[in-house]
Amino acid sequence: MVSERASRVKPSPTLAMDAKAKEMKARGVDVISFGVGEPDFDTPDNIKEAAIRAMKEGHTKYTPVGGIPQLKDAIAEKLQRDNGLSYRREEIIVSCGAKHSLYNIAQALFNPGDEVIIPAPYWVSYPAQVLLNDAEPVFVETREEEGFVLNPEQLKEAITERTKAVILNYPSNPTGLSYDRSSLEGIAEVLLRSKAYIISDEIYERLLYDGTEHLSIAALSEEVKARTLVVNGLSKSHAMTGWRIGYTAGPEEIIKAMTKIQSQSTSNPTSIAQWAAVEALRGPQDFVRTMVEEFDRRRVFLAEGLNAIDGVRCSVPKGAFYAFPNVSALFGRRRSGGEAVEDSSSLALYLLDEARVALVPGSAFGAEGYIRISYATSMENLRKGLERIKGAIERLS
Ligand SMILES: *Cc1c(COP(=O)(O)O)cnc(C)c1O
Repeated sequence: MVSERASRVKPSPTLAMDAKAKEMKARGVDVISFGVGEPDFDTPDNIKEAAIRAMKEGHTKYTPVGGIPQLKDAIAEKLQRDNGLSYRREEIIVSCGAKHSLYNIAQALFNPGDEVIIPAPYWVSYPAQVLLNDAEPVFVETREEEGFVLNPEQLKEAITERTKAVILNYPSNPTGLSYDRSSLEGIAEVLLRSKAYIISDEIYERLLYDGTEHLSIAALSEEVKARTLVVNGLSKSHAMTGWRIGYTAGPEEIIKAMTKIQSQSTSNPTSIAQWAAVEALRGPQDFVRTMVEEFDRRRVFLAEGLNAIDGVRCSVPKGAFYAFPNVSALFGRRRSGGEAVEDSSSLALYLLDEARVALVPGSAFGAEGYIRISYATSMENLRKGLERIKGAIERLS
């Protein structure tokens, strides 16, 4: 019998959808996947070369648990340069991907009975990690009309004596929203009146369009910074999902607890990947600009294409690489066999069957009525996939 803890969570639905599409592809079915959560670009060569150099120079052994000092310094420089945040080495820990950073935070912070506020739509791993650490997720539903931005009034209502933390993610997976200064200030003001920590997942920081600038909530004031754990990593910004490097910057006491937990679980992240990450942070950044320009083109094309489909409404995402259209107008329409499309997951299954397009239903992100389409795929795939989706939706009656 597995533990009660293990039975509290389901496998990641986004990875499950991706696996299903890959399995169909392996059978020779021509599936277009809009389910993926990783850049379709290759890791830049200068980063790969840094890894090869690290291997040849013998950096193939255990490193300090929380990361090599060179990487901690490169992260501190980055946080200073890009975010105006100043952290010492003792306030930084490198983990095996930002997902692992978030998990370590959950381990270091949550007690049984603690409540953790998660604005919905949310990234699938937040509630799962809260549950795996014996705390309770408390969802606050944001509104499409408000651009899915967390409303401070709603936040205030959700906070109780037991609120241990609030998880923010901006730019957001799945909605593509980003927070401006005044929304962050509204949220911070409410939170400073409580005892809650702010877990700020900024993994999509670099993927912002229309000249939008990223502002970390920790940069609002020293008081806010003292409550915030800034989470970031290289997976999305430098197409390094397989390298597994993420990091957290925050109050020394919590970083210390996370380091202790990491020392008893994974130990250090891969030595070679850490050296590659130093190069990613300190080396030339033109790769990131090129990637963002390409995502930008696809984003506009995709939103336009989706809005041209009857029953689909999509605002242009401000960041990350996902569109999150409202598809609720399609519910109740019937497939040719007679069966009705009732919700986002039956729509996703219909589109997989009928259009051979894989995408993730909004219900996976706590938002029924939507679907998530990743544009981390080629223009050619977007064009073909949109056509197929349009055709399949037009065949509903
Ligand atoms: C991809 C992703 C992460 C985790 O990325 P890692 O590969 O673990 O660094 C964290 N948060 C969000 C919202 C993501 O989409």
